[in-house]
Amino acid sequence: MIARILGWLARSRSPATGGEALGVLQRDFQALASALESRNLELQCQTRQLRMLTERLPACMAYLDRDQRFQFCNSQFDCHGGTTGSNPVGQRLAEVMGEDNFRVVEPYVLSALRGNAVHFEATLNMPDGEVDFLIDYVPDTDASGAVQGFFALQLDISERRAMEQQLMEALAWQQAMFDSSDFAVIATDMHGTIQAINPAGQRMLRYDADELVGQHTPAQFHDPVELVRRGIELSDGRGPIVSGFGVVTAAATDGLAQEREWTYVRRDGSRVPVSVSVTAIRGVGGAVSGFLTIAADITERKQAEALIRHQAHHDSLTQLPNRTLMDDRLAVAMQRAQRSGQFVAIVMLDLDHFKHINDTLGHQVGDSVLQTVAQRLRLAVRPSDTVARLGGDEFVVVLDGMHKASDIHRIARSILDQFAEPVLANAHELQISASVGISVFPTDGSEASLLLKNADAAMYDAKAAGRNTYRLFDRQMMSQNTDRMEMELALRHAMERSEMRLEYQPQFDLETGEIMGVEALLRWDNPVLGSVPPTVFIGLAEECGLIQPIGHWVLQTACHEAMEMQKRLGRRLGLAVNLSPVQFAQADLPELVSAALRDSGMMPNMLELEITEGIFLLNSERTISMLNTIRAMGVSVSIDDFGTGYSSLSYLTRYTVDWIKIDQSFVHDLPHGKNAAVLTTAIISIAHSLGMMVIAEGIETREQYDYLLARGCDLGQGFLFSQPMSKDKLIDWLENQATQAGGTAKPALINT
Ligand code: C2E
Ligand code: MG
Ligand code: MG
Repeated sequence: MIARILGWLARSRSPATGGEALGVLQRDFQALASALESRNLELQCQTRQLRMLTERLPACMAYLDRDQRFQFCNSQFDCHGGTTGSNPVGQRLAEVMGEDNFRVVEPYVLSALRGNAVHFEATLNMPDGEVDFLIDYVPDTDASGAVQGFFALQLDISERRAMEQQLMEALAWQQAMFDSSDFAVIATDMHGTIQAINPAGQRMLRYDADELVGQHTPAQFHDPVELVRRGIELSDGRGPIVSGFGVVTAAATDGLAQEREWTYVRRDGSRVPVSVSVTAIRGVGGAVSGFLTIAADITERKQAEALIRHQAHHDSLTQLPNRTLMDDRLAVAMQRAQRSGQFVAIVMLDLDHFKHINDTLGHQVGDSVLQTVAQRLRLAVRPSDTVARLGGDEFVVVLDGMHKASDIHRIARSILDQFAEPVLANAHELQISASVGISVFPTDGSEASLLLKNADAAMYDAKAAGRNTYRLFDRQMMSQNTDRMEMELALRHAMERSEMRLEYQPQFDLETGEIMGVEALLRWDNPVLGSVPPTVFIGLAEECGLIQPIGHWVLQTACHEAMEMQKRLGRRLGLAVNLSPVQFAQADLPELVSAALRDSGMMPNMLELEITEGIFLLNSERTISMLNTIRAMGVSVSIDDFGTGYSSLSYLTRYTVDWIKIDQSFVHDLPHGKNAAVLTTAIISIAHSLGMMVIAEGIETREQYDYLLARGCDLGQGFLFSQPMSKDKLIDWLENQATQAGGTAKPALINT
């Protein structure tokens, strides 16, 4: 610019302007020119310094004159604003920026040229795409205040924008997480004062944020007892006892990550178990500036844990304690009794013929029976006593803190009384009974396992005594229990080793004395155990599933032997065979009966099946229809041991059988036992009125015989007439009788 001015001056020197004056003017100009030259150098130096300075700026810096022409621009222009790629100095802003971009900044340019400093953000179109800029226009005014141009500072803030955007998004995410989290999130300052609580936290605690924020610490909703307990734990008996929220943040303050279970107390006083983790928020120097508490509601987990614990200790069907829990309770009860000098009774209870219910009516009915029994047992004892189910139909009651061992009789009776009412199970009305065995601590053993074993032995004794009763353990039973296991083993081999045989007891017409038939009675002679009575082994066979093969063998053998007797004696002889209720679980029982008849050639009307009352108590349609099938074949059915156990005369009106067999316990008490006499008379007359015949068993005396005869009892059997005998002996005996009686089969005893 300076050179341009000097050049112009040389060209304009002409003689027309006068030599002296021009020389002076030229000198002056030269002086001015050298002054300007040095000024120019100074300016150039300043410009260089300015450039150096502005080059370091991370922004485009420019000076534009009033015409919006670039007078100066640092090289950052390329990265921070240029679009043309050439040096913009001398060019107008609109040319450099392009029309579109210029339109964006134009209002600010005009404002700057009006003397206003403007600061704004704009998105401009650059060769590589849109870029965000932060732009400052600062007006340049001269001494008079007139605007000469303006300084422009333009900074590419795309990266910053992107970071801001990311930050915003991150914050939004955090907020969303905070708001939508299922966990309660509580932020506190370093003193524990709540700064923020998320919606889940408010829902969990049933507080509004404004009730807590800035006012309380989370200690407000901690279970105070837990806080105190934990505070004492933390002090470890030595240091000062920590209190309040400090108890919860102690680990986090020490830089430890810790998750702990606590109980929060909600605004309404209800409690919620929570798993809490507390994190210390640290400032630049690492000092704690606050805490972030995250609490998860663990109610469901706690419930599941409780359920698992419950299941591990309870029977799932009846919800009664199981063996494990019962063992624990028994151990505790024994310890307590030892200290206090009291007694503990172990009552073992097994349902009579439960297997039969399960087999004939199905497991659903069986389950329902067990549930009802469980309920009733619970009602029979004090809440503090333990009623447990050991499995199957076996229950144990542990009676704690008994002052007198003799109290057990009353309790045992009340337990048995629970079975008086029939059990209603899936529309079946079932008369259930139980056999109960009792052992007492410390009398019958000092160890739980022994006490249970002894109660078990007593229970088997109760079963052997005819069920539906209880027995207290005595020493003798212990050996019986071991015997029982030996016996079961022996019984499994009894048939293959031909240890079973049948005896026959004659049945007489009481009026005529004529032998009408025989009852087959099973005998088992074991080389080691000796002669085992059926009252002992039949129950065992029923329990261990052997009664079915045994019963089948009895039926077949009895029919064959009875036919042999008939042939040898040359007369018709009825045959009564005992059937166990358990045999009715066999669906093919009617077929087995008809096969026995077919195989032996016996007429169906010569066979009578003796069943016990128990079978009707199950009220099973299946059993009834099986009996009807059997009766339809021509085989008769009698109810054995009538009057024992469940003794309900009403059964007689409901079920059709051919014979009633009065139990020998009534016959035994005749004629003087009042109850026996009344019952016997009633049974005979009711049975007759219903078209059934009556037979009395166990007749041992003449009085008994006379009494029964006078009441119209049809048949009788008993030692008065004859003991049960082997087939051969019986044939001999009967042949003898016949010879003595001149051809009739009248028993000798009746005639004497
Ligand atoms: P039960 O069917 O009531 O048989 C009558 C029982 O009374 C028989 O006992 C018989 O020997 C006995 N007895 C007969 N007369 C007299 C008497 O005058 N006085 C006394 N005190 N007892 C008398 P046993 O043979 O010991 O049989 C007992 C029970 O075993 C039978 O009672 C029956 O329930 C069962 N039992 C016997 N054999 C079989 C069988 O083959 N199958 C099934 N399921 N049970 C059988
Ligand atoms: Mg019988
Ligand atoms: Mg009987």
